[in-house]
Amino acid sequence: MRKFVSSKDRTRAVNAFTAITQGLSPDGGLYTPVNLKESTLSIKELEKLDYKQLATTIISTIFDDFTLEETKEIVEKAYGHTFMADDITPLEKVGKDAVLKLYYGPTGAFKDVALTILPHLLVASYKKLHLNQEICILTATSGDTGKAALEGFKDVEHTHILVFYPEIGVSKTQKRQMQTTTGSNTKVVAMQGDFDTCQSLVKAAYQDPAVKELCSDQVVLSSANSINIGRLVPQIVYYFKAYNDLLADGTITCGEQVHFSVPTGNFGDILAGYYAKCLGLPIGKLICASNSNHVLTDFIATGVYDRNRTFLPTTSPSMDILVSSNLERLLFEFSGYDSDLIKSYMQDLNTRGRYEVKDSIKKEIKHHFCGYYTKEEDVIKTIQSVYHDHHLVLDPHTAVAYHAKLQYQKEHPKDATVCVVLSTASPYKFSSTVMKSIAGKEFENDRDNMEALTGYCSETLPDYFSNLYDLPLLHTEVITKELGMKTIAAFLSEAKGEPV
Ligand SMILES: *Cc1c(COP(=O)(O)O)cnc(C)c1O
Repeated sequence: MRKFVSSKDRTRAVNAFTAITQGLSPDGGLYTPVNLKESTLSIKELEKLDYKQLATTIISTIFDDFTLEETKEIVEKAYGHTFMADDITPLEKVGKDAVLKLYYGPTGAFKDVALTILPHLLVASYKKLHLNQEICILTATSGDTGKAALEGFKDVEHTHILVFYPEIGVSKTQKRQMQTTTGSNTKVVAMQGDFDTCQSLVKAAYQDPAVKELCSDQVVLSSANSINIGRLVPQIVYYFKAYNDLLADGTITCGEQVHFSVPTGNFGDILAGYYAKCLGLPIGKLICASNSNHVLTDFIATGVYDRNRTFLPTTSPSMDILVSSNLERLLFEFSGYDSDLIKSYMQDLNTRGRYEVKDSIKKEIKHHFCGYYTKEEDVIKTIQSVYHDHHLVLDPHTAVAYHAKLQYQKEHPKDATVCVVLSTASPYKFSSTVMKSIAGKEFENDRDNMEALTGYCSETLPDYFSNLYDLPLLHTEVITKELGMKTIAAFLSEAKGEPV
């Protein structure tokens, strides 16, 4: 059976059930699947599989504590009826390249792909471990994870979910989506701060003495963020799916390399791409696309991770992140699972806001990845020109990745490798920016922007967007950073059924 090893203590190895249930290792490390390269899959054998069959094969290869039958059942629950496309993540050719549309799930975000399945993985793991505690899920969101997680966990037995989002930064539609969430086990709180404030709070909760004391035999903490390995593994699937689509329409031949350009924030999505490569998918470069908060672009170029810079709110808020959690998993792997080294890097990041990786790690990174960033004005121009040239409407996050692809191709004119751009959000979700780019004007409120955008998008406006502004606001609490841990403690007490 495969072990998941803590990036902060390599002697701490657990099975899939424990890794998924805990979310984060008690030592603060991230559970990482080791030696994936020993589990290579055959592209030839996968070629004919549809999305759900691919998901079953890939997920059960990594979470091999589940039987194939169990995985199949979980996959069916997640993807049976919840997506607007039968093939879950449709691929659209754009010239010789392609855009992979990952936003056909229940909230219009690519995070739905993982968050429709995580609750089922979690509940199944919980049962395997014979737990009788309530699972309390803490989630930090820069906008999209929150709603996708809330919908995924809403009214799921034995679970309670608390979401923190930054008061300033998320789009009006994202905020509205979260504030209108129903369900008896959901709680949403706005934080005066940025995403990193929310994420640090959630990570710190695991180490907080008061919280630890509350997590007795009655409640256990878990996470719906991509620090939970149960979030990452389902994302590997669509890399294979994209490859199958390119094979099916004759764009590539079996074994031919493909590049992927990935709009990156917390480094989860692109890490799933790297895992796909480890499992044998012929990926050339993983293009790490950032917005004006380009910590990762600089890191890939220099090997120095430096968060000491001004945080810039952009039109792609889900990528406004200065601390990319999942990079830790990649460094753990590239260091040969040297958890002491990783601990020292993360310590430096906490105390000095920066660290520099050793040369062998720099080399590995450059071998697999390259990084580009896109300025705000180029986001607008890209949305404009892709619509003009291809009649395809991109959301700002996808535009960042599309522009990164263009930059890569400009720098490598002789490289004819097909490139797939991952499209991570519905353009309707960021309708004001998209309208401004395509139509040259935007309306005051997002409802009108969405309506107007229906004239440009090939996809119809989903119900969950058209109804959004008629729903009552159920979650309007705003707190300061200082009140964060208290809010978590109250949430845990409530989950235990104690008076708050
Ligand atoms: C979360 C998100 C991203 C970034 O994904 P990571 O896995 O955090 O790197 C990009 N685009 C959108 C729309 C997102 O919601």
